[in-house]
Amino acid sequence: MPIVNEKNTLLTELFDDFISQKNSRLFILREDLIHPIISGNKWRKLKYNILEAQKLNQSTILTFGGAYSNHIAATAAACKEYGLKSIGIIRGEEQLPLNTTLQQAVNDGMVLTYISRSEYKNKMQVNFLKALEDEFGDFYMVPEGGSNVLAVKGCTEILANVNVDFDVICTAVGTGGTMAGLVASTNEKVLGFPALKGGDFLVEEVNILLDKYSEKFKVATSENWGLITDYHFGGYAKIKPELIEFVTHFKQKHNIALDLIYTGKMLFGIVDLLKNTSELNGKTIVVIHTGGLQGNAGFKSRFGIEL
Ligand SMILES: *Cc1c(COP(=O)(O)O)cnc(C)c1O
Repeated sequence: MPIVNEKNTLLTELFDDFISQKNSRLFILREDLIHPIISGNKWRKLKYNILEAQKLNQSTILTFGGAYSNHIAATAAACKEYGLKSIGIIRGEEQLPLNTTLQQAVNDGMVLTYISRSEYKNKMQVNFLKALEDEFGDFYMVPEGGSNVLAVKGCTEILANVNVDFDVICTAVGTGGTMAGLVASTNEKVLGFPALKGGDFLVEEVNILLDKYSEKFKVATSENWGLITDYHFGGYAKIKPELIEFVTHFKQKHNIALDLIYTGKMLFGIVDLLKNTSELNGKTIVVIHTGGLQGNAGFKSRFGIEL
């Protein structure tokens, strides 16, 4: 460690009239630059899990995800880098030819197995995991999206590269591990933007992860955080023309690519809050670019969307 360059992130200020008019400042932390596939928060979440697997002398990591999962792609690539075997349990039926995410994972040596959506729901049950062990032998299990207490620890390191005095940190939220790590590493406000509909359940998920983190590492964690659940665009991986337009325009203006599933929705939300509310007035805001750009290839091949 580290083959992935954690120092390769960049804090860039974004300039626009609607930001200065509110006396705010907006920075973006380019965690996406860490590695093209093991990008952003997926590296942060895997780091201490890989170290733990090595410590336990486990040669295989098994994990779960959907067919376009950034976490699956990242786990395959990271395991290859660190000489571990990887197994990906994929939700749904196999589709051939493989999409770019899964092809990349296979090229990185990941063994893929497909399970039905109903099996997928029960994937953390003891007897299901036992059946996987009978099939594949011993493994170190990383949960869906990579979020466990060691993932939270990895994400507490994200803000180490931020050298401005900020008031607010913003991140996209899927399973809540990244959010928990950010909350555990600052007393300033952390705002999470769930990428899925009905994201209020994530309050509980983040609290569970924070509790586990507090318990394991014997530290108190801040309560200065909240979720903004209005920018899911209809649900997980659902998109709308105005989102595509926003992401395209953002790239033209700032020369920074966003993904449609997470960072695009979050930044759309931040811009909307800055323009149309007073919530972020006078604040110095740091937005975490959590990466996920490999996922854009899926939108290109399925819908012809060029970003
Ligand atoms: C997975 C992912 C997230 C969500 O992270 P969680 O820790 O699951 O909440 C956010 N952004 C990107 C780009 C991701 O790939």
